[in-house]
Amino acid sequence: MTALTDLYQEVILDHNKSPRNFRALEGATHSGIGHNPLCGDQLTLYVVVDGGVIREIGFQGKGCAISKASASLMTEAVKGKTTEEAEALFTRFHDLLTGPPDVKTDAKSFGKLAVFSGVREFPVRVKCATLAWHTLHSALAGGGAAASTE
Ligand code: ZN
Repeated sequence: MTALTDLYQEVILDHNKSPRNFRALEGATHSGIGHNPLCGDQLTLYVVVDGGVIREIGFQGKGCAISKASASLMTEAVKGKTTEEAEALFTRFHDLLTGPPDVKTDAKSFGKLAVFSGVREFPVRVKCATLAWHTLHSALAGGGAAASTE
């Protein structure tokens, strides 16, 4: 195991143990429910959008370490961004996780989200890592139907 992998592992464990923005939000303008039946991950996402910008974001739920850490890191990554920027980041993040392993990714541009780049070797885990993002996408799109990785 390389030092880089150790570092990644550490970030995921830290965010799993003490997830950031782990709370329901009063006055959320958008919310969504996400479910990954393959692993049993569930989460509810609360978003306050004002003037096209994600001002506040929080989540609650239960699931594996990767799904929780991913939701935690996602909330940190998109807070303060416009909804368009958040959607664009989701697309890039999804590509990072599902792209062929020989494609060099610009890990730096992802900041802490790069910790999930190792997940692409495990397709089942990709669903855990992208669940929060799928839920954000459906919440911003108006919610309604629950987001599912299936
Ligand atoms: Zn999971």
